[in-house]
Amino acid sequence: MKERTYAIHTYGCQMNRLESQIVAGKLESAGWKAAAPDSASLVILSTCSVRAKAEQKILSKLRSIRGNERGASGRKLVGVMGCVAQQMKEQLVEPPYCADFAIGIGGLARFDEVLRRLLAGERGLVIAGEDGRYDLYYDLDKVKRSDSRSAYVAVSRGCSNFCTYCIVPFVRGPIRHREPKSVLAEVRQLVDQGFIEVCLLGQNVNNYRYENVEFHHLLEDVAQIEGLRRLRFITSNARDLTIETVRLMATPPLMPYISLPMQSGSDRILALMNRGYMSAEYLEKVSWIREIVGDAAISTDIMVGFPGESEVDFEATLDAVRQARFENIYSFKYSPRPFTKAAAFNDPIPDAVVRRRFQQLLDLQREIQLDRMLSFEGKVLDVLIDGVSKKDPNVVCGRAGQNIVVNLHHDRCRLGDLVKVRIEKANPHSLSGKVIGRAD
Ligand code: SF4
Repeated sequence: MKERTYAIHTYGCQMNRLESQIVAGKLESAGWKAAAPDSASLVILSTCSVRAKAEQKILSKLRSIRGNERGASGRKLVGVMGCVAQQMKEQLVEPPYCADFAIGIGGLARFDEVLRRLLAGERGLVIAGEDGRYDLYYDLDKVKRSDSRSAYVAVSRGCSNFCTYCIVPFVRGPIRHREPKSVLAEVRQLVDQGFIEVCLLGQNVNNYRYENVEFHHLLEDVAQIEGLRRLRFITSNARDLTIETVRLMATPPLMPYISLPMQSGSDRILALMNRGYMSAEYLEKVSWIREIVGDAAISTDIMVGFPGESEVDFEATLDAVRQARFENIYSFKYSPRPFTKAAAFNDPIPDAVVRRRFQQLLDLQREIQLDRMLSFEGKVLDVLIDGVSKKDPNVVCGRAGQNIVVNLHHDRCRLGDLVKVRIEKANPHSLSGKVIGRAD
């Protein structure tokens, strides 16, 4: 191998993005350089197996990387990390995938060793241990953070909730909570390095508990770190959302945004899913947020076509959506996942019915969402610039505190700037406006 260059394709959740940043940092400190996927000598897929569709996309990507190689001289090093690696292990290094290595959740701590062995010529390495050595709270100086002065900080890993449709507890293991002083030290370090936004991560973030420190205690301590301008957390379970956490969200540096998956508005389906709350409790927590946090944005996940979902159940979901008036919905069709209880449930919903319900949900949300976005017209929002529009290179984009994308024409805005923007126009999925000054 002449030049050591790498590319990482990241799929799925923010935890995967953070793990990709950790691996990128390790590679760069070992002398590797980032490159375009086609020319990189090492390609890593940081994978998600939460839905069948995501998993199939990853496997077909793997096959296409190998299929496009021309002869032995054009052969790349190809690796898989994350949930699919933990789930499929040896299968990934065998035909038709032929990855050179697969590093599961329990094996990422040994990435340096894997790299050494690959460079020594070993192939077909599989490290997907289940020995409890899961955690990655080390070498944090080396993480290759994004350029936008926004950083992820993991506070827990894994999940012990066992929602009946979810593969996460099986591939990421039970929840492990990080010591508060380690979280605080990392956030302080990030602030010292110039980061203005931190997002605390956990698969079930508000289930955090370390000895007698609960999630809202941790949040309060992080919020007091001097110089931290923006604080977020993701993803919350309504069962574990407390009024103390909602009260904290009302005051900066906490941002007025929460990702609060509802999954269904039917109590019967919520019980079958083992979500740990009923619809009324979920909606009550939504009303706390609306009342206590000014101009809050709530995004949710909704699953359509869970086994046994009747028209009455689906109508209950539409009703709950009407009441909650979410700013954003990530809707998806149920797909059975290995190891999960729901995979053995009877009464699958026919595809045509799932498609029709899915469309009904999208149509309803489109109306609500535009209305919610219109409520921001004329307001001034602080926006953290995090990129350039894919459609128009003259348009920069950023995120408001509500985590809504804001597009703006402004030559002098740079990645990582925090600016005040007057919102002039609402679109269904974004806002656009004019910069009226700096926010810092
Ligand atoms: S809370 Fe439920 S859906 Fe979320 S990661 Fe845990 S088991 Fe999966």
